[in-house]
Amino acid sequence: MSSSASACLIAVKYLLVATTWVLFSDYLLTLVVLEPELQLQLQTFKGMAFVLITTAVLFFTARHQLRGRRQQELALRKNDERFNLALAGGNDGVWDWDLVDDAFYLSARCRELLGITAERPEGIAQQWLEYLHPDDKEPLRAAFIAHLRGKTERLELTYRVVGQHADLVWVQVSGQAVRNQQGRAVRLVGILRDISEQVRREQRLLQAGVMFDCTSEGMLICDAEQNIIDVNNAFCQITGYQPVDVIGRSPNLLASGRHDTEFYRRMWQQIMATGRWSGEIWNRRKDGEIYPQWQNIIAVKDHMGTLTHYVAVFADISMIKRSQQEIDYLAHHDPLTKLPNRLLFNERLNTAIVRASRHITTLGLIFIDLDRFKGINDSLGHSLGDEMLQRVAERVQQVCEDADTLSRLSGDEFALLVERPVGFDDLSKLAERIQQLLLEPFELNGQLIHMTASIGLSLFPSDGNDGAELLKNADSAVSLAKSRGRNSYAFYTQELTEQARRRMNLETELHLALQQHQLRVYYQLQKDLRSGQWIGMEALVRWEHPEHGVIPPDEFLPVARHAGLMGEIDEFVLHQACAQMRQWLDAGYPLRTMAVNMSGYWMERGDVLSSARSALANSNLDAHYLELEVTEDEVMHYGDLSVSLLDQLSELGVRLAIDDFGTGYSSLLRLKRMPVNKLKIDRGFISDLPGSESDSAMARTIIGLGKSLQLATIAEGIETQAQEDLLREFGCDAGQGYLYNQPLPAVEVEKILMAVEL
Ligand code: C2E
Ligand code: MG
Ligand code: MG
Repeated sequence: MSSSASACLIAVKYLLVATTWVLFSDYLLTLVVLEPELQLQLQTFKGMAFVLITTAVLFFTARHQLRGRRQQELALRKNDERFNLALAGGNDGVWDWDLVDDAFYLSARCRELLGITAERPEGIAQQWLEYLHPDDKEPLRAAFIAHLRGKTERLELTYRVVGQHADLVWVQVSGQAVRNQQGRAVRLVGILRDISEQVRREQRLLQAGVMFDCTSEGMLICDAEQNIIDVNNAFCQITGYQPVDVIGRSPNLLASGRHDTEFYRRMWQQIMATGRWSGEIWNRRKDGEIYPQWQNIIAVKDHMGTLTHYVAVFADISMIKRSQQEIDYLAHHDPLTKLPNRLLFNERLNTAIVRASRHITTLGLIFIDLDRFKGINDSLGHSLGDEMLQRVAERVQQVCEDADTLSRLSGDEFALLVERPVGFDDLSKLAERIQQLLLEPFELNGQLIHMTASIGLSLFPSDGNDGAELLKNADSAVSLAKSRGRNSYAFYTQELTEQARRRMNLETELHLALQQHQLRVYYQLQKDLRSGQWIGMEALVRWEHPEHGVIPPDEFLPVARHAGLMGEIDEFVLHQACAQMRQWLDAGYPLRTMAVNMSGYWMERGDVLSSARSALANSNLDAHYLELEVTEDEVMHYGDLSVSLLDQLSELGVRLAIDDFGTGYSSLLRLKRMPVNKLKIDRGFISDLPGSESDSAMARTIIGLGKSLQLATIAEGIETQAQEDLLREFGCDAGQGYLYNQPLPAVEVEKILMAVEL
């Protein structure tokens, strides 16, 4: 019943009681009191009493009513407070939309959530929409409309709030419409809940789930009793086990058996103490293969600190191990021949020496240096040069026994460590066998190429106490073998060390000698064998050592070559010789040639042409007076380099002679292509003349060759008149030798020249 109806009922009741009382009491009064005056008095009294009684009734009724309402209000306020506290505790906000009046109510928490400020109370519904994520506006509107139209039981939606907040706020809105009797929604009430944290947690879980499934690292989760409860895809891929094979079982089924119990004991000890362990561990795949993995194990505890799980994350590092091995292989092997390189060879040599000294036994070292390999590289190209090295390695390997190590130390140098008790005889046999193996020509690109090697031998312990010394001494023995004329082998001797020491001292002194002008140029006369006239000189360098006296070039030039001073020396001689020739020509001596030796080292340095130009210009000497001598060996060794240089020198007008002709292996074809003017017969073919028939034949052949190629010939090393006569008879154009003079300083030679003049 409505409040107006209740009030109306009370008023009607009062009207009935009051009317009955008024009518009944008046009637009763007329019956009881007959006296009119008393009746009047009692009437007044009755009226007063009625007022008093009704006032009292009204008082008690009003008091009762007011008390009831106060209690109701109190109860209501309490309820309200309880409701608000509950909402606040639940972090929810209430909203209420009176659709009839279009009044919108938002609780303080709602405003806070939506970022609506109290300063803008107007258009709250509009502000609500304003701060929505643009993508969520339409779904929210649609959800409201659907619910208002009665298409949904409840309004339930999650959306994002942007704008006022630094972070995105996820809000869950839920509510329900109040409908009138016609079913029309008149009010919509609901709550808003901040679910950002929950969403973030869900997202994190989702990400963790994706990571768990997609990471390339294997993951395994165990419960506190160490039973596997989950594994990821990578685990299956790495181990070959499927989840059904392992879930519920102990991770021990992966153990490879490679680690002892002590290893696992320490691992668990660390997990218990620190909560984690990481390290390399070998496990076994389902197919039985053992592989290395890098593993992290973490003990997981809940918020009460109770251990709940173990998580193991691991990476299969077998590939890394393999590439480590490959890198190790590359670092220790020569990529071309696949032989151990110097690094590995030295390691093995040193270990072998330690072993040999422990067992008081010997071992041998064979140092192999290919002869004229540079020539092969230059003439055939580097790829064929590489092939040659591979083929040589293959052949030499045939002499190796299991314990031996053949290594390519560098370029064309090989070393063989003979790790077994060997003596001089065994090493000699091995060296001869290597020479024999190389004897057969190599077929490269359709050509047959001969290759020889110079071999140096050293023995432990007699030739060195450590690897470095043994190797150095074998290398010295190679030099000895080379000086004996290639394709030979030599043992290391103490004498070689002495020589090496002397050479080192000389090297230091030679640097000083150049600075202090101790080098001199001596001259040796050249005679026209037909006319008997002096026609030229050969300039020959000497070292006038302040202590050791005059040192011949054969002694110090090898040192100069080693020290890289050869080019400098040649250049010095060239300048001196040109200047001297100028003086002699100015003095009126009828000389035609100043011969200067040109070393391969100088040719390699690349400045012969410019030096020749400047020497000629400085001395104002015509180029045709200058004759550059290059040995047959070097002309052939430098191949195309020498051909092009000789061409340029020839263009300049300089004359060219081939020195020591007959000792090398000239290719007649190449000789014909070169702009050479003269052949200088090596003194080796002259010294035994006229006695030696073979040398006579050789000398005669060279002279004949010169004639047919239209080259002048000169014989060096003429010591006797008989030799001179014979050579003249053979048709040789000129000669030089001790018969006429030893190489002498300019002033001394000039005396000879002057004697002729006189
Ligand atoms: P080479 O160019 O063949 O010089 C000829 C050598 O034979 C000279 O020796 C000379 O003294 C020597 N000789 C001349 N006549 C006779 C003789 O009748 N009997 C004997 N037994 N020997 C004779 P040297 O001066 O000792 O030079 C030796 C080599 O040193 C030269 O051979 C040359 O290859 C090189 N050489 C000398 N001086 C220079 C130089 O300035 N530059 C370069 N690059 N090499 C030089
Ligand atoms: Mg010479
Ligand atoms: Mg010579």
